[in-house]
Amino acid sequence: MLKADLIAPVPELLRRHATERSGKVAFRDARRAVTYAELERRTANLAGHLAGLGVGSGDRVAILLTNSVSWVEACLAIVRAGAVAVPISAEAAPGEVSYRLSDAACRIVITTAARAEMVEALRAEAPSVAGLLLVDAPAGDLRSFEALAELPSAAPARDPDDIDVASFIIYTSGTTGRAKGVLLTCRSMLWVTAACWSPVVGLNADDTVLSPLPLFHSYALNFSVLSILATGASEYILEKYSTREAMRLLETGEFTVFPGVPTMFHYLMEAAQAEGRSSLPGLRVCVSAGAIMPATLNAAFEGAFGVPLLDGYGITETSTMVTMNAASSSRVMGSCGLPLPGVALRIVDPASLRDLDAEQEGELIVRGPNVMLGYHNKPEETSKALRNGWYHTGDLARADRNGFVTITGRLKELIIRGGQNIAPAEIEEVVLLFSSVLDCAVAGVAHPQLGEVPALYVVPRDSSFDADLLLDHCRHHLSSYKVPHVVHQVDEIPRTGSGKIIRFRLKEMVQPLP
Ligand code: AMP
Repeated sequence: MLKADLIAPVPELLRRHATERSGKVAFRDARRAVTYAELERRTANLAGHLAGLGVGSGDRVAILLTNSVSWVEACLAIVRAGAVAVPISAEAAPGEVSYRLSDAACRIVITTAARAEMVEALRAEAPSVAGLLLVDAPAGDLRSFEALAELPSAAPARDPDDIDVASFIIYTSGTTGRAKGVLLTCRSMLWVTAACWSPVVGLNADDTVLSPLPLFHSYALNFSVLSILATGASEYILEKYSTREAMRLLETGEFTVFPGVPTMFHYLMEAAQAEGRSSLPGLRVCVSAGAIMPATLNAAFEGAFGVPLLDGYGITETSTMVTMNAASSSRVMGSCGLPLPGVALRIVDPASLRDLDAEQEGELIVRGPNVMLGYHNKPEETSKALRNGWYHTGDLARADRNGFVTITGRLKELIIRGGQNIAPAEIEEVVLLFSSVLDCAVAGVAHPQLGEVPALYVVPRDSSFDADLLLDHCRHHLSSYKVPHVVHQVDEIPRTGSGKIIRFRLKEMVQPLP
């Protein structure tokens, strides 16, 4: 069942496919494509140059780019240099970028000319940054990523073969505010390819994938970068998800696999219904992860297009997948499937850690080859989350008598907006910087398309409070998806005796508008 040959060092996988399918397109975007042979050659050059720029084994290199072929090349080159890739959302606000650059002590930032000034300005807060590489540098600029990709390097790529050291730091919303850097290895990531995407979903060298996922997130790094490389498939990378563009491409009949988050499938179905369309020729399977996939949406999508839509449960801390549905008649709609073979999964009482019976709701805990090494520089948070090798997910779940797992809720205070995680505390910290706010709290509220969105509850300091100015302040400090959808003024924030916000009470404090 486990396709163990897919778990190999990145340089070996590159050489394997450069030999077996040299002229085949590995990745393409709206601007350019790269074949397996070119990918092997260009990432070797880049990796050698990174070492020449002073990047040592284990040093961190940030990727601050939108989804693109260059993103993939940067990532694979960093791994070939023996360094650690630190993906950062290209939409991150400057404060979020500087936090990640300094927390991970990044040496080099691979970015675009348009972002160079912003990154240069952040070097005061992130003094580890020694230089930038620009994917679109003008001719003659020494910081040109493109020139280095084409220029053989003086020293060869380091090409480490140890796949059990950290190769990626993926930032994930912490429950306590600041994002935590999850340390993942090539083995943990490729184990998911070998235990899930290849055997369960059937991803293989004949597949052509359309990927709309943000590459800086673990789901895409796993599926849309490493699993494509490991299996020798071919992929078109959308710069950003757009229903119209995804639909246009899917209708060409070229694509066999489409990975997404529930919101995307919802939008695709609505668009198809509005335009009376129902055929996505050639599409073999769709995969959903990242948030709860309602049984009704799952069934409606499959009914509308006649393509299996398989839900799986994944977390950054477990290199993504823990459970997955296979396309079989015994599938339980609304469940996220069975545990991957090789993963140990328990559903326990969160207080006593006693194992619960089938059908009982408890916290899901996981142990297996996909579990993270820990959080970067956060020993306390690591020991809270990882106990005797078991990762405590903070998700509530139950398993039926056949072992099918359903996620039923969350112990952790995360808001999941269309598959993107938001920690309430991160928004609260920013709101409290605003002078006319005395106190505040954030909670998730239901949203028909996005599942959940952040709502802000504010106790104003005085009559000068202006909600529009506060939202401008939020837009300046936070990525757009974290900006509250609605602001409610309240008299006080409900708290426990020990000062913890009682979030479920917040919604009760707001009178519905007449
Ligand atoms: P992230 O680390 O950003 O991938 O977020 C992981 C969280 O997303 C999990 O802890 C769950 O709360 C949620 N999640 C992921 N996949 C699913 C799924 N298939 N069903 C329900 N919740 C999910």
